[in-house]
Amino acid sequence: MNNCIFCKIAAKTIPTKLIYEDEELMAFHDINPAAPVHLLIVPKKHFPTLADCDVGQESMLGRMLLLAPKLAQEQGCEVTTAADGTYSGGFKTVVNTGPGGGQEVYHLHMHVTGGARPFSGQR
Ligand code: AMP
Ligand code: ZN
Repeated sequence: MNNCIFCKIAAKTIPTKLIYEDEELMAFHDINPAAPVHLLIVPKKHFPTLADCDVGQESMLGRMLLLAPKLAQEQGCEVTTAADGTYSGGFKTVVNTGPGGGQEVYHLHMHVTGGARPFSGQR
């Protein structure tokens, strides 16, 4: 785990644009953003992939999902509903898992992307 970039961010041995932190989770701006807003929500504890999680991580995974709309809203990507019921705004959440999922950093993380479209990123 010594070589894990997100463990190093959690240990504050390398800097990042941190936007949220609690005892279990952190969130920061992706270093190579694929969208006007591109955040990563990351557990401080090392789990290589989503597939390495089980029922013991149920609460943590739920907290990651619930944090996404809160942080997206803070970054200007909130979902709004007009009087006629139409939605606008919003964001995308993605967890790439394993080589088949295009995962590059093997420390569980959730991408949160949003902002004015079109944007070219694939995340
Ligand atoms: P994934 O393909 O899902 O593993 O995505 C890994 C993401 O981590 C990519 O979008 C990278 O740009 C991002 N990333 C890698 N290193 C850093 C870093 N030091 N700080 C912030 N984001 C990073
Ligand atoms: Zn790690």
